[in-house]
Amino acid sequence: MSNSTGLWRPTSVEEAVRLLADEPDAKPISGGATLVAMINARVLEPQMLVSLADIPEIRGIAVLADGRIRIGAFTRHRETAACELPLGASRVVPHAASQIANATVRNMGTIGGSISFADPGLDYPPALVAAGAEVEVAGVGGRRTLRAEDFFLDWYTTALEPGEIVCAVLLPRPAGGTGYYLKHARVVGDYATASVAAAVNGAGGWRVAVGGCGPCPLHSDAVDELLSRDRSDAALADAGAQLQELADPLDDVRGSADYRRLLIPRMLATAVKTVQNDSGAK
Ligand SMILES: Cc1cc2nc3c(=O)[nH]c(=O)nc-3n(C[C@H](O)[C@H](O)[C@H](O)COP(=O)(O)OP(=O)(O)OC[C@H]3O[C@@H](n4cnc5c(N)ncnc54)[C@H](O)[C@@H]3O)c2cc1C
Repeated sequence: MSNSTGLWRPTSVEEAVRLLADEPDAKPISGGATLVAMINARVLEPQMLVSLADIPEIRGIAVLADGRIRIGAFTRHRETAACELPLGASRVVPHAASQIANATVRNMGTIGGSISFADPGLDYPPALVAAGAEVEVAGVGGRRTLRAEDFFLDWYTTALEPGEIVCAVLLPRPAGGTGYYLKHARVVGDYATASVAAAVNGAGGWRVAVGGCGPCPLHSDAVDELLSRDRSDAALADAGAQLQELADPLDDVRGSADYRRLLIPRMLATAVKTVQNDSGAK
C-alpha cells in the first residue's frame, strides 16, 4: 500500500501556522536534513508537510533597529557560519555553526530546524545559551519570545506548543568581547560527545554552557557570576565541578556518561582560556 504526503508552500508565517493548526498531523519542513531521514526510515509518516522555504521574513541575518541581530529560522548553517557582522560575545554562534557536521549538512540544515529538533548533541543549543540569545516563535495565537535556556526543556523537547514554529533567533545587541565553541566528537562531522560554549562581553561578563551532557544545555547563573569575577585555576575547577553536578549524561555510542562528566571541567578550562586569550580579557 502506498502513502502520499501533501506539500504546502506558504509565503508568510501567518499562512504557515494556519495550515499547521488546520491539519494537526502536518509537520513543518525546513532543510529536511533530519525530517526526510526520519520519513525515509518510517519513524514519521506525516500526511502533510508545510515547507518554510518560501517565507522571506524568516530567511537571512539582519541587524534590528535596536541593534540586536536577527537570524531568520530558515537561515542555513553555512550562512550563519559565514556571518561577518561584529557580534561580540555572540561570535560563539557562527563558530558553533561552522562545526556542524560537514559541508553538505551545513548547506542543507537551518537554525530553526536544528533547534526545533533539540537533539542533545546539537551544536547550536549551548552556543545560543552562552550568547544570551532569544527564540522568537509563532502560532495562530500570535508571537512570543523566549530565552534560549527556557526554549530547551528536555530530551528532544522544546517549549514549542503544537502548531507553533520558530521564526528567528535573536542575538543581543553586540557589546564587545568574543566567544568560542569547543566541540569534542568521535570524528569530524559527528554530533558532539560533549561541547562547551564560552562568551565574554566587553564589560567582562561571562556566560558558559555545556552541550551533550544532559537533555538540555547545562547552564548556571552562579557559574557565570563566578567566572565573571575570577578565572584562576581554582575558580575554573570550581566552575567545572558545579557544571558536573548539573550534568545528566547518557551512555551512548558517542561516549559513556562517566567520560562525558570527565570532559566537562577540562573542556571548560580550555574554552575559557581560549576566549580570554582571544579577547585580551585578564
Ligand atoms: C548526517 C548528519 C549529521 C549531522 N551532524 C550534526 C552535527 O554535528 N551538529 C549539529 O548540530 N547538527 C547535526 N545534524 C543535524 C543538522 O544540523 C540538521 O540540519 C538539523 O537537525 C535539522 O535542520 P533542518 O533545517 O534540516 O530541519 P528539518 O529536517 O527540516 O526539520 C527537523 C525537525 O524540526 C521541525 N522544524 C523544521 N523547521 C522548523 C521551524 N522553523 N519551527 C518549528 N519546527 C521546525 C521539523 O518538523 C522536524 O521535526 C546532522 C544531520 C545529519 C543528517
